[in-house]
Amino acid sequence: MKQLTILSGKGGTGKTTITASFAVLARNAVVADCDVDAPDLHILLHPKIVKTQEFRGSKLATINETKCTKCDLCREKCNFNAITENLQIDPISCEGCGVCSLVCQVSAITLTERVSGHAYISETKYGFMAHALLNPGESNSGKLVTLVRQNAKVLAEKEHADLVIIDGSPGIGCPVIASVTGVDAGLIVTEPTMSGIHDLERVLRLLGHFNVRPFVCINMHDINDENTKRIVDFCGENGVEVIGKIPFNPIATEAMVNEKPIVEYASESRIAKKIIEMWKRTVSALKCGSQ
Ligand code: SF4
Ligand code: SF4
Repeated sequence: MKQLTILSGKGGTGKTTITASFAVLARNAVVADCDVDAPDLHILLHPKIVKTQEFRGSKLATINETKCTKCDLCREKCNFNAITENLQIDPISCEGCGVCSLVCQVSAITLTERVSGHAYISETKYGFMAHALLNPGESNSGKLVTLVRQNAKVLAEKEHADLVIIDGSPGIGCPVIASVTGVDAGLIVTEPTMSGIHDLERVLRLLGHFNVRPFVCINMHDINDENTKRIVDFCGENGVEVIGKIPFNPIATEAMVNEKPIVEYASESRIAKKIIEMWKRTVSALKCGSQ
């Protein structure tokens, strides 16, 4: 079983559009939405949840009022101002760092795990999907991404799928690292703008660091031929394969508004054909049978 992560340096480059179309085109794959902070793949794939799992990724301090001597030390030492003047813990501000429980001389503070999000296993008309949602204000999205990937892997093994298609989160932070470690390839969706080129270089460095084979897709390549050439030249000089060039077409937005993957919404359009060509090249490069 192969794993492919689709990623981008920032949001809005068309990453989810490509992932959703790949999910339609794959014959035997499991999809994992690892953008757990702001998932949007479900808008296009309409998953029906079959299993929900609580995710406990953080801790919350609790003060035992019977034991507490009201010395105020915990409140002074809390760097997150999470303890009020009347010694109540603010669950939104508490980061679960544990300093308060360390300084309390009478062991009045305990830390308990709390539900910081949910992971889901769902069915879509294109196959199984693993996804999740982190509660607002929660951190530790990297751990939740790892859980989504584990769920996708277990599903893929159970279903004898030969590919896991992972929609990574934008950027190069902790959740992105969690979504690329150990995968067979990373497909970076970029656009021909100066910031797009800069983001592409950063993501390529990240993939290089984790020894992940990179592919590049230039989305809306025809909006700036000069910058597209820059990207192609840069990739050529660095031995990176430009696996697809997708033209600008307002039908991409239309498909999103209609909550459908492009290859389904406008299967005969030029843009859909380009995505199909890129899909074929990708599975062929990965040597997996999910065509
Ligand atoms: S440090 Fe312990 S005893 Fe002091 S106020 Fe906080 S909970 Fe109460
Ligand atoms: S666990 Fe950390 S953040 Fe939460 S109340 Fe204690 S010191 Fe403050």
